[in-house]
Amino acid sequence: MTLPGSSGTFLATLAHELRNPLAPVRMAAELLEVVKDDTTRLEQVSNVITRQTANMTRLIDDLLDVSRITHGRIDLRKERLDLGSLIAQTVSPFRDECERAEITFTSELPRSPLVIDGDPVRIAQIIDNLLNNAHKFTEPGGSIHVSATEEDGQALIRVRDSGIGIERSHLEHIFEMFAQVGSPGRTTQGGLGIGLSLTRSLVELHGGAIEAKSDGRGKGSEFTVRLPLAPPGEPPHPPGVGRTAGDDREPVDTTDTASPLRSVLAVDDNRDALTAVATLLRYNGHDVETAESGAEALEKARIQQPDVIFLDVGMPEVDGYEVAHRIRRQPWGQTILLVAVTGWGQEKDKEEALNAGFDVHLTKPADPEEIHRILVDLERDR
Ligand code: ADP
Repeated sequence: MTLPGSSGTFLATLAHELRNPLAPVRMAAELLEVVKDDTTRLEQVSNVITRQTANMTRLIDDLLDVSRITHGRIDLRKERLDLGSLIAQTVSPFRDECERAEITFTSELPRSPLVIDGDPVRIAQIIDNLLNNAHKFTEPGGSIHVSATEEDGQALIRVRDSGIGIERSHLEHIFEMFAQVGSPGRTTQGGLGIGLSLTRSLVELHGGAIEAKSDGRGKGSEFTVRLPLAPPGEPPHPPGVGRTAGDDREPVDTTDTASPLRSVLAVDDNRDALTAVATLLRYNGHDVETAESGAEALEKARIQQPDVIFLDVGMPEVDGYEVAHRIRRQPWGQTILLVAVTGWGQEKDKEEALNAGFDVHLTKPADPEEIHRILVDLERDR
């Protein structure tokens, strides 16, 4: 992967891509007040926020992945897995999306296991990227087909769509980074042009290859991913994957388990981030105190002696690491569950957090499901 020749164009495109989801979020935020008594409208508006922030998170995650790959710092957590089950799981939310967009979605998966040694999160990301593109470039009334087969000792994943297709001249460069920036006949679908480049890197990191085919404009496209099959031996792990922000990849348990009520201290020097997490926790019935600085966090922790502290790491003066250190030195600070909440999700950041005395590391934006799970798991651990 190489960085863009014209960083000015790239920055303009990036700004544009970030502003796109931001506009509906801002509008939705203003509408919340207007529709607050109308539950149906309220749900629609909050869905807009959830969807658009998911788009932004995806974009930012992709950018971080590009940076990791360019610096050779991506960690694959390979395990033996059944590709068929993983694909079935990955396409499941996608079916509804297609239905809403009036696109016919079909899949053809093998009956017997198609076993590879791969990182389930990254393989799911590959499939997800290809499906998202297929969806993005296919009009209502069109179709998308996904299949997985075994061919010549390799596992093959095919994603075919009946969409706008790709011109021959564009096809040659499609896996290059920023391929779509300034490309002729560009659609209004937007995008940064990093998805396919990232996808190819992830496929190659698994020892595989990817190719694109199209008979031209309006003739649809087909992407084929080849991955080496695993040598016979150990059976595959059961699937259980969810991509979370950054590189935090514990599978998220979305079962609806109620968490026992906790005493929680939330700490962040960004007041809006703090209000959001405190509101979520209070809404779920927890007893929540807040602090906007390291010094205030230490003072509140001493008085409250909470079960859990969600602690922002990057704060001026006394930062989160220092707070964690000092709390751990107190007799009352030994059993508190300390959760680091940071924008940095690399392995080394997690290690640093654990060394500072944290029990858990969460990458921003923290997923409400993950916060919930931490509060549920606390019960199991004690
Ligand atoms: P982007 O974020 O711009 O979609 P990608 O790297 O995923 O970035 O894709 C690069 C370009 O390849 C797209 O902008 C589009 O022009 C083309 N492309 C990718 N997938 C498809 C598809 N299924 N059908 C038609 N064109 C596609």
